Amino acid sequence: MRLGGTAAYAVEVTTRAELEEAVAWATEQSLPMIMVGIGSNIVWKDEGFNGLLIINKIMRFEDFAEDDANHYVTIGSGENWDSVVERTVAAGLTGIEALSLIPGNAGATPVQNVGAYGQEIAQTLTSLEAYDTTTKQFVNIPAMDCGFAYRSSRFNGADKGRFFITAITLHLAKANPAPPFYATLQKYLDDNNITSFTPSIIRDAVIAIRNSRLPDPAVVANNGSFFANPIVDGGTLAQIQADYPDIPHWDTGEPGKVKLPAAWLVEKAGFKDFYDSETGMSTWPAQALVLVNKSARSTADLLKFKQKIVDAVATKFNVTLVQEPELLP
Ligand SMILES: Cc1cc2nc3c(=O)[nH]c(=O)nc-3n(C[C@H](O)[C@H](O)[C@H](O)COP(=O)(O)OP(=O)(O)OC[C@H]3O[C@@H](n4cnc5c(N)ncnc54)[C@H](O)[C@@H]3O)c2cc1C
Repeated sequence: MRLGGTAAYAVEVTTRAELEEAVAWATEQSLPMIMVGIGSNIVWKDEGFNGLLIINKIMRFEDFAEDDANHYVTIGSGENWDSVVERTVAAGLTGIEALSLIPGNAGATPVQNVGAYGQEIAQTLTSLEAYDTTTKQFVNIPAMDCGFAYRSSRFNGADKGRFFITAITLHLAKANPAPPFYATLQKYLDDNNITSFTPSIIRDAVIAIRNSRLPDPAVVANNGSFFANPIVDGGTLAQIQADYPDIPHWDTGEPGKVKLPAAWLVEKAGFKDFYDSETGMSTWPAQALVLVNKSARSTADLLKFKQKIVDAVATKFNVTLVQEPELLP
């Protein structure tokens, strides 16, 4: 968002040993630490961070083929995520092609269990390696112990800030992706008469869809989707349907619970292609869920604009939107 204060100390780490050294130094100085990738999912508070920011540049890429079909790829947490997707797709591997073009580092993907177009990292991640800042040891954590759920894990939940992830291992298949695909993706495939599917065809389709809807964070200051899609009960859905029978919604797999599109709620609450002159913030014309910093002076401006949206949606639909990017420190 190009907003927020400064950090007292910052260090780039390229190896596990450098990470250990950085943690030891900060511990000695009694300073708090935060490990980051590129900061695409962080809103920094205006008051800054009186601690050590550890910028992750730990690189690694190892591909192990168990047999013709099953590949295990171990990736350094500092690798650029989209380059990882590009590389595995080029090798004909399927499993993460729908996660194309998500900004950030590989090591951040388990933190909020990144997901898009019907895939999430929890589906392919088998284990990860992390430095446990409590026990001061490297540990291997299997996927089943990561506490993965929709946009969450133990790393942004109960154990927030405890583990610094240094590598992730994914199980990918040497195979073509098969339908059913996520509705938006399927529509793009139909519209473009695409009827045979390879990892690379799906990656290209996802990139085309994303480029048409989302601003490039290198050019336009934004955090991607600013709100998670809310999960509500059947009663709330029925109340909204009384006025809006066509509201889109998805099954969650949990009885009586449905997921609503946050973008739809934001638009209907009056924020479609909206510029707020008081805060200098706006919503992105092609996707109202993306808040854009046009001329905001501070994170306080951003949070004021966010609150206007949250209040308007709550008043109109009785649904509370939850912010997706993390407010730090
Ligand atoms: C335009 C745009 C589109 C986006 N689209 C999507 C999308 O489709 N789906 C989706 O899920 N997300 C999306 N995001 C959010 C973001 O890309 C992901 O959350 C990404 O994984 C963040 O990576 P990062 O390196 O920038 O992490 P950061 O923003 O630097 O960090 C995010 C959090 O993870 C922690 N963290 C980072 N690295 C580590 C590590 N190695 N060990 C421990 N903790 C760590 C940080 O402390 C922080 O809490 C989008 C963002 C933008 C700007």
